[in-house]
Amino acid sequence: MKKTLRIAIQKSGRLSEQSVKLINECGIHFNNGKSRLKAVSYNFPAEFLFLRDDDIPGYVEDGVADLGIVGENEMVEKAKDVLLIKRLGFSKCRLSLAIPRDKAYTEPSYFQAKNIATSYPRILHQFLKEKQISAHIHEISGSVEIAPSIGLADAVCDIVSSGSTLLSNGLKEVETIFRSEAVLLGNHQASEEKKDLIDQLVFRINSVQAGKGNKYILLNAPKDATEAIVNLLPGMRSPTIVPLAMSGWNSIHSVVQEDQFWEVIEKLREAGAEGILVVPIEKMIL
Ligand code: ATP
Ligand code: MG
Repeated sequence: MKKTLRIAIQKSGRLSEQSVKLINECGIHFNNGKSRLKAVSYNFPAEFLFLRDDDIPGYVEDGVADLGIVGENEMVEKAKDVLLIKRLGFSKCRLSLAIPRDKAYTEPSYFQAKNIATSYPRILHQFLKEKQISAHIHEISGSVEIAPSIGLADAVCDIVSSGSTLLSNGLKEVETIFRSEAVLLGNHQASEEKKDLIDQLVFRINSVQAGKGNKYILLNAPKDATEAIVNLLPGMRSPTIVPLAMSGWNSIHSVVQEDQFWEVIEKLREAGAEGILVVPIEKMIL
């Protein structure tokens, strides 16, 4: 029987939508009824388990799932023996310590002998140990941010992205102790056949990610500006030059990295480029 990869993803929560989107962008599709716990892909040898994110590292360690997608925070907190195969670039957030807004804060020793509420006792413990602080860790599984206002704790250690939840609970962020994004986890003992499928999936993820980090650009330039413009454009190997129907002009095509994009565009305009088109790249095979 042909091997099938089992991939665990979050059933419903902040990782779910983006996890499914990434899998779909890799050309892997499945039908998923809302309440289903399992779905089988009809065009790739993979099946999907929809679970709470807390359970995913354990399922991957035990080999019930071959792969899983979780936040790196969850992976580290659960401390299971799993392989971090790839950082996925979405659900970026940080784990931070926060205290009531009206308290003065200068340094971590503030937390000495304080009561800190968190869902991440292990990561918090590690931070406190490094700073040689002894504090009481009060583990709670949800709604951590209300703990100080109901007298349950002096401070919280919780996930932050914009900080607005903290703010609306009268808290301020004072230390970031961990930075996280979604990661692809794997089991250490994958068979050769499964490793082969995992490599295929990772290859597709890399192509999707490379595409997202780059733009395809097309522009028109007078022939005498072509050389200067080509020198500004790296391209995958080198830019493409196609003559326009109008004599004396070329169309130049190339790939530009997203993070260098605005800087390059300015320089291209200065060098005489006109009619610049910028097109997203769906996948890029390097
Ligand atoms: P579950 O019901 O599956 O246990 P959960 O409530 O534990 O879900 P979510 O709130 O859905 O978890 O968050 C899942 C992961 O998404 C977190 O572990 C973290 O990595 C990331 N995350 C959490 N909050 C944010 C945020 N505000 N912005 C970006 N990413 C976040
Ligand atoms: Mg959870």
